[in-house]
Amino acid sequence: MQLIRAFAVALTAVTAVSGLSLSTAQAAGEVVVYSARQEHLIKPLFDRFTEQTGIDVRYITDDAGPLLQRLRAEGRNTRADMLMTVDAGNLWQAAEWGVLASVESDLLRERVPQHLRDPDSRWFGLSVRARTIVYSTDRVDPSELSTYEALADPDWKGRVCLRTSKKVYNQSLVATMLSRHGEERTEQVVRGWVDNLATQPFSNDTSLMEAIIAGQCDVGIVNTYYFGRLQQRDGEDIPLKLFWPNQDAEGVHVNVSGAGITRHAGNPEGALRLLEWLADEEAQQMFGALNMEYPVAPEVSPDERVASWGDFQADTLNVSEAGRLQVPAVMLMDRAGYR
Ligand code: FE
Repeated sequence: MQLIRAFAVALTAVTAVSGLSLSTAQAAGEVVVYSARQEHLIKPLFDRFTEQTGIDVRYITDDAGPLLQRLRAEGRNTRADMLMTVDAGNLWQAAEWGVLASVESDLLRERVPQHLRDPDSRWFGLSVRARTIVYSTDRVDPSELSTYEALADPDWKGRVCLRTSKKVYNQSLVATMLSRHGEERTEQVVRGWVDNLATQPFSNDTSLMEAIIAGQCDVGIVNTYYFGRLQQRDGEDIPLKLFWPNQDAEGVHVNVSGAGITRHAGNPEGALRLLEWLADEEAQQMFGALNMEYPVAPEVSPDERVASWGDFQADTLNVSEAGRLQVPAVMLMDRAGYR
């Protein structure tokens, strides 16, 4: 808050001296970031970047929706040089609204695998999150598990917990299934999930896992870093485990958190430097570890706890598909009664 206020004052001061534009204010090379990633996940990175390059980073954080709306409303008057957000669905939306610039960078193309970035180079994944199956070690034998789709089978009647379909993570998961299986098959699966629900969908992944521990249901689908946070909070011996599904097929559903340079950036050079730096080895290590996610750079290993969950085959479908098919996915979930 302090930071935003200080910045607002500085801006007013600059505007008062008429004729001075924002780019003048940023002449020192400062980069301004709008971030839907929380402060504690980005500040250590920005501090390190500043230490290494002498370029200051100012940022504001908010939820993805409001930040995107704001960037769109501000148009060419925006002070943001970079948008950082989670989920390819949100990044795709930002690109659709024309608030991101296409970036020519061999470095980024080299460091960020093709399926984890926009085909038109308007955004780049910076960390990978896996959305996978979590199960009760008390009531489920992992040999019962195989794929996301199989959770729609009648054996799971009354045993499944899901997070709400309002969350973009589930919209992206279903959008990916749509891209793979088409509408009919995907709808059949989602209906099966809904039929198997033990209780109403949860508002977040953590309460879903708590419900499994409490015995309300036996399996669910979560992002792995929430599992990591629960382990951190409650200890390693919680009666839950992760399962990597679809290993004989397309692989585990992955998504990204990522960033792009804004179309009306006052400091596109500084923003590009930051973006390239974030994809570099040291930053990749930090970026993943701070939220217990996976680095996008394949040569960088994840942190110790994340590595302890084991290796898996990840889906290599371009994550932008999650954005492209978001609307049909939402409509499908609605039709299937998934709330
Ligand atoms: Fe999350």
